[in-house]
Amino acid sequence: MKYPIIDLRSDTVTKPTPEMLTAMMEAEVGDDVYKEDPTVNKLEHYAAELFDMDEALYFPTGSMANQAAIKLHTQPAEQLICDKWAHVYNYEGGGVSFNSGVSCKLVDGNRGMITAEQVQENINPPDFYHSPLTTLVCLENTTNKGGGACYDFEEIKRIRKVCDENGLGLHLDGARLMNAIAAKKEDPNAYGKIFDTLTVCLSKGLGAPMGTVLIGKKELMQNAMRVRKVLGGGMRQVGFMAAAGLFGLKNHVNRMGEDHHRATELAKKLEEQSYVLKVEPTETNIVIFYLQQSHRENEFLQFFEERGVRMSAMGQGKLRMVTHYDYTGDMHARVLELLENFE
Ligand SMILES: *Cc1c(COP(=O)(O)O)cnc(C)c1O
Repeated sequence: MKYPIIDLRSDTVTKPTPEMLTAMMEAEVGDDVYKEDPTVNKLEHYAAELFDMDEALYFPTGSMANQAAIKLHTQPAEQLICDKWAHVYNYEGGGVSFNSGVSCKLVDGNRGMITAEQVQENINPPDFYHSPLTTLVCLENTTNKGGGACYDFEEIKRIRKVCDENGLGLHLDGARLMNAIAAKKEDPNAYGKIFDTLTVCLSKGLGAPMGTVLIGKKELMQNAMRVRKVLGGGMRQVGFMAAAGLFGLKNHVNRMGEDHHRATELAKKLEEQSYVLKVEPTETNIVIFYLQQSHRENEFLQFFEERGVRMSAMGQGKLRMVTHYDYTGDMHARVLELLENFE
């Protein structure tokens, strides 16, 4: 028997819903390089308003948006501070050095999150010219490799204070920021007040086929179009895609609780299994767990693959499942059952 594929590798695997497709088909478009695409303009306006920030700019990918932000904040030979698991450091192809000529000071944080004290300790003394000049702090919320962990907002405020005292910029890689906001019932405005720039992926839990918005303060954003152009990210009638992003931002945040609930149930089921060593705390839509015998990783993945269930290996014995809107109640019931069947 052939099973339907249940894809838990990432929340990027979703396909547009019929309603989203309609919004895409009906989008009014123009040449966005001339800033004449009304739908892209609408999305950018909506995103900036949502976070109560000055400006937003649509990018094809989250990596490009983060890389542009880093470029806007820094000069070559400077250094940014981030967690050792940060996406900007690990999963953007070395772009920090390639695009900006900047190095990363890696902090040994907790599930991808760092503290104000750690930021303070990792700032190079500005008058010590042997060391790179520290100019930027990059946070991630939720954390990807950290299993969808969410920052305590009070900690973010403390980090902002350290940045202010030391003249550092503060960027948020908010690929899954809407998951954090939904899970902790936070106000997007609060993020807009604290960060100089932030990115939000439209192609993860929000379900659009592509796109990320970079949102920020005017002083920084005035050069953003130029940097996007340099990186090859100027696009034409891309309003068809922006319409999907706008639709997701407006309609899919409220349903994220469902993804989070299912992730919690997966985590609970895993905890009950004797073959599981440890499950990371599950706060949003990412479940990270370790097998009792790490050498059985391939066997485990294959057991599920043969039954149509896909998940990802993250190295160091880590396995990951990510819930999303194409993961239905029926699929969930089946995965819960299969988790009991492996031994
Ligand atoms: C997915 C992701 C990004 C952006 O990735 P792209 O594939 O380039 O869109 C950035 N940061 C984090 C934490 C992510 O999970």
